Amino acid sequence: MFHNPGGKLKGLAKVLFWIQIIMFAGFGIAIMFGGISVLGYEDAPNIVTITSGCLMIFLGILVAWISTIALYAFGELVESNKRIEELLRAGNRGQNASAAPAVPKQNVCPFCGTVLAAGAKFCTGCGRMIDQ
Ligand SMILES: [Zn+2]
Repeated sequence: MFHNPGGKLKGLAKVLFWIQIIMFAGFGIAIMFGGISVLGYEDAPNIVTITSGCLMIFLGILVAWISTIALYAFGELVESNKRIEELLRAGNRGQNASAAPAVPKQNVCPFCGTVLAAGAKFCTGCGRMIDQ
């Protein structure tokens, strides 16, 4: 469900954009043709209703456009954030791999520091017994 939230936000932004356009266009046309009685435009289309309707559509497109850009940008941000996080994680993993000691501690003589073969019982450098 929460896989790729940035991509989902971007998809949602596109869907919401068209929903808002259709809603405001419908609202604007309804005002134009006197369908919205609550606003007092019950008359046949005239200059006031047509102007109001056009304004409503224009504002609707503006609002839809701005909110879509905001949501899309947020989705983009989430995506790039995730990409950076993944890069950092990959970088850390690489660093850990290279930082991991090539010579484990038990393979070095604790007395003289000579590198010993795995499982060696005695040091090849100083001849002392190695405690495992
Ligand atoms: Zn030694």
